[in-house]
Amino acid sequence: MTGFDSLPVAPLQALALSWLRPFDVELAVLRLDLIDPLISGNKWFKLLEHLRLAQDAGAPGIISLGGAHSNHLHALAAAGKRFGFATAGLLRGHCQDTPTVRDLQAFGMQVHWLGYGGYRERHQPGFWQPWQALYPGWHCVPEGGGGPLGAKGCALIVAQARAQLANLGWADYDAWWLAAGTGTTLAGLVLAEEGGHAVHGALAVPADHGVAEAVRALVGPAGYRLYDASRGGFAKVDEALLAFMDTCERESGLPLEPLYAGKALLALREQVEAGAFAPGTRLIFLHSGGLQGRRGFA
Ligand SMILES: *Cc1c(COP(=O)(O)O)cnc(C)c1O
Repeated sequence: MTGFDSLPVAPLQALALSWLRPFDVELAVLRLDLIDPLISGNKWFKLLEHLRLAQDAGAPGIISLGGAHSNHLHALAAAGKRFGFATAGLLRGHCQDTPTVRDLQAFGMQVHWLGYGGYRERHQPGFWQPWQALYPGWHCVPEGGGGPLGAKGCALIVAQARAQLANLGWADYDAWWLAAGTGTTLAGLVLAEEGGHAVHGALAVPADHGVAEAVRALVGPAGYRLYDASRGGFAKVDEALLAFMDTCERESGLPLEPLYAGKALLALREQVEAGAFAPGTRLIFLHSGGLQGRRGFA
């Protein structure tokens, strides 16, 4: 198990979009989608501390859970193949053939389908017991790579952006804008910023998913703001969103996917148009990757 802690640097690029111009808001994008073709986006950062723990413990493998399009399981399986450790994935629902699942198996991940009821048990106290019996000594990563270890790894994202500000001619920036699923990545940015710059999180899941509570548990109540960007549900995609993404992709060349980056950028436009940001504001948009999951929507 070697090489996993040389994280590639995500490029920071200026992003010119016509809907920003009238409001004189400047936007740069930190391209986590470009750090690796397989271990894409924020997921490598979220896994980093888990990989260190697993290595220190001499764990023979890593086990985690997720859905049939999970970017997290995809990154874990690809990391296992690349860096030389075994992986197992516990999947929600019943056996399905998706591009993501095919990749998981091609990367050598042991895939187990839990059904919907079985997956719902994942927070029960005895849940891990049979899996720990089947995979003795393996390191378990919570769903989506969430929790304090995930957030700690994501704190490194801030330094990557700061090191490249001069390339844009920026002395500083005012705030971050990013999509939030579990809120772990957002929590990492808040930890690294220590109140220096605000962190704005566009929620890709509805308010009843407990993300606000999870973020509060990780970093407390200050230093960030959350917005509902879910458009009625996690996987809900509508015409307005697709048309907006299409326009942005044409204008900027930035590839988007609808579940996170597309929704986050649309929520940003709504805030900009509502006058949330003063003229001259400089924002960094975190492109958290996830383009592999886009294949499921083709
Ligand atoms: C997982 C994921 C997120 C959400 O990250 P959290 O840390 O769970 O908030 C955002 N964007 C993409 C592309 C993802 O795959």
